[in-house]
Amino acid sequence: MSDDFSDRPTPPSSDRPTPPPLRPETFAVHPPQPEIVGSRPLGVPLHQGHVFTFDSADALADAFESPDAFLYSRHGNPTVRALEQAVARLEGGAAALSYASGMGAINSVLLTLLGSGAHVVAQTCVYGGTYAVLTDLTRRWGVEVTYVSGTDPEEVRAALRPETRLLYLETIANPTARVSDLAALAAVAAEAGVPTAVDNTFASPLLCRPIEHGADIVVHSATKYLAGHADVLGGIAVFKDAELYEQVRHYAVEQGAITDPFAAWLTLRGMQTLPLRIERHCANAAELARRLEAHPAVAAVRHPSLPSHPDHAVAAKLLPAGGGGVISFDLAGGREAGRTLMEAVRVASLSVSLGDVRTLVMHPASTSHRQLDAAALETAGIGQGTVRLSVGVEHVEDLWADLEQALERAAKAA
Ligand SMILES: *Cc1c(COP(=O)(O)O)cnc(C)c1O
Repeated sequence: MSDDFSDRPTPPSSDRPTPPPLRPETFAVHPPQPEIVGSRPLGVPLHQGHVFTFDSADALADAFESPDAFLYSRHGNPTVRALEQAVARLEGGAAALSYASGMGAINSVLLTLLGSGAHVVAQTCVYGGTYAVLTDLTRRWGVEVTYVSGTDPEEVRAALRPETRLLYLETIANPTARVSDLAALAAVAAEAGVPTAVDNTFASPLLCRPIEHGADIVVHSATKYLAGHADVLGGIAVFKDAELYEQVRHYAVEQGAITDPFAAWLTLRGMQTLPLRIERHCANAAELARRLEAHPAVAAVRHPSLPSHPDHAVAAKLLPAGGGGVISFDLAGGREAGRTLMEAVRVASLSVSLGDVRTLVMHPASTSHRQLDAAALETAGIGQGTVRLSVGVEHVEDLWADLEQALERAAKAA
């Protein structure tokens, strides 16, 4: 083994004096890094390093000026960049930024575009964390928010003000599964020069690409479908054009809520099977929704695939490949039936997340939305007996058998 540092090129002049041999204390901290000659890794390599070294002083100086150079991982990392480019391509955007969580991505977008006195138009049933951020911004910076149903372009037009900086929507709302006509709403905002951001977590880019429907920014909790295996937190913001990307990137580097390379690597690994998983999630969910709707213990089922769904026609246009993997349904037996069903399932797991390969079940009224009183629950579209099911990729007959026996026990408990 050579005693020289293997990560530096051989000095050009061969008539230099041979350096003295290095001592163990030195070569212990400079392990060799074998060069890969004539081949390259098939999978995206994990570049866990947070900092990069350069062959010349000029190259290091130049890196400060080049957005594509890798210098320090808060500014950019090859594994994280691979994830950003993969999601940007799936969403049909110019570029993307990756974050430590979905909330990191959402915060970054909101804090870049909103300042004191700004106004936002947002859909009523936004994700709870997003609602909390908007409420905090109102309290601390005087940001004003007008909530709209997300089903009527004229409602958006009426809500716009000269100081409106953003229209914020979700492709499929939680847990109502309401589907917004993105193109109609984004067009109204665009006429007023207001950008539209869409949280596309529930649909994934396999079911809907909001940029094609007029969105300027798409955000994801990559924790859910993109990664898909309950082993990583992550968030992504995709931008339709480079200018908005640069604006948010500037803030994101300061904010520092960036993705750890290992998290990016796990997400990329999960995303390779995203098309297969989404296909199964949608097929399983549509079948379970159909069977649940016919079950006597169930009062109502919400899934975009059902003809009874209020946005069935919008969903057929916006989500032609499927209505996603999340179903919510109301048990005729109310709250007690909901709690019993959660404890009676054997294949499904009691869990608050979604988008996992495993089926997850939760009862919002006794868990995620327990602080809400009856009136607030109703506004959020949640009843005492509402159950949310994130349908996994297991065999649909195993899932149905599990639900059927749990529904029977829930009906007896009510
Ligand atoms: C989970 C979720 C988020 C937040 O993502 P985290 O990765 O948990 O920070 C945002 N939006 C939606 C729709 C979500 O389901």
